[in-house]
Amino acid sequence: LKGTNDGMTSTEKEIERALRPLSFEDFTGQAKILENLRIFVKAALQRGEALDHVLLHGPPGLGKTTLSHIVANELNANIKMTSGPVLDKPSDLAGLLTNLQENDVLFIDEIHRLNPVVEEYLYSAMEDYKIDIMLDSGPNARTVQIKLNPFTLIGATTRAGLLTSPLRARFGINARLEYYDAALLTTIVNRSAAILGTPIEEEGAYEIARRSRGTPRIANNLLRRTRDFAQVKGKGVITVEIAEIALRALDVDQNGLDEMDNRILTTIIDKFKGGPVGLSTIATACGDEAETIEEVYEPFLIQEGYLKRTSRGREATEKAYRHLGIVPVYRDGE
Ligand code: ADP
Repeated sequence: LKGTNDGMTSTEKEIERALRPLSFEDFTGQAKILENLRIFVKAALQRGEALDHVLLHGPPGLGKTTLSHIVANELNANIKMTSGPVLDKPSDLAGLLTNLQENDVLFIDEIHRLNPVVEEYLYSAMEDYKIDIMLDSGPNARTVQIKLNPFTLIGATTRAGLLTSPLRARFGINARLEYYDAALLTTIVNRSAAILGTPIEEEGAYEIARRSRGTPRIANNLLRRTRDFAQVKGKGVITVEIAEIALRALDVDQNGLDEMDNRILTTIIDKFKGGPVGLSTIATACGDEAETIEEVYEPFLIQEGYLKRTSRGREATEKAYRHLGIVPVYRDGE
């Protein structure tokens, strides 16, 4: 699965970590969010209090995890990482919470996938820094209340719409990350190339940037693959020609759509007359999960105007037809 962490080797994960910005200074883009976070962090530090809980949402690879680490760094706090599906039962959560030091950060990725029972426990933890723990069972059952150190919960989600309203209401800070434009991604590609020690020409950086689906993680991945091409097929320098060769080999087309993006559009047009067609039908025909299509592919295709979401399903736009070089066939009465 392109664009997510899945299928990465440990070396790749290490490189991803090395490329991760560590301070507000180092982070490119998302200007509005950064501007606000700087103020909130500074105010919390001045008061010596925990930062309010933060909800970060947006498609994968836009920097939610990175920003959470940065916030913890800037707060001079520790960060503990977990994810919604991993927290099976309340005691898993209690274990994490009771180990937090004052003003630490707890990061929960995929927070929309929390078990409802665990989520209930989170409410009082977030609100009053307290949790009730059940001791024993049967006639001896009793609950004890445990006071927690003040902490900041940072929740990340690709699907803010799936959060329950009581959970959403407990986040004082709510930020939606946007796709990056080509100029910002060029800066990120240049920075990453410098860290990797790979010489890169400005046009080469721009070519990778503009074909990265607005996503820093994809830009970094394409940079690393292009570096391989530069080494083997070129003179080690990433030029625009090398970038072209690499991107073609990686099935990233001229508009930056990857193989799956194109498969989704082709399926809607060829098999379903351009739509409207339901998401699960598209997923089956494309051989991928509906969830992945909805979280990873669709948001970008919609933003770029290739796909429309209507009440009757997904529809390919005229731009999609033009992109694929297909002439739209209009049905009677349209
Ligand atoms: P998310 O948590 O939203 O899926 P991550 O924070 O894991 O995304 O970011 C994925 C990769 O992209 C990280 O390795 C990081 O190096 C890079 N990245 C993300 N945002 C930025 C940014 N604004 N500037 C530079 N690199 C970034």
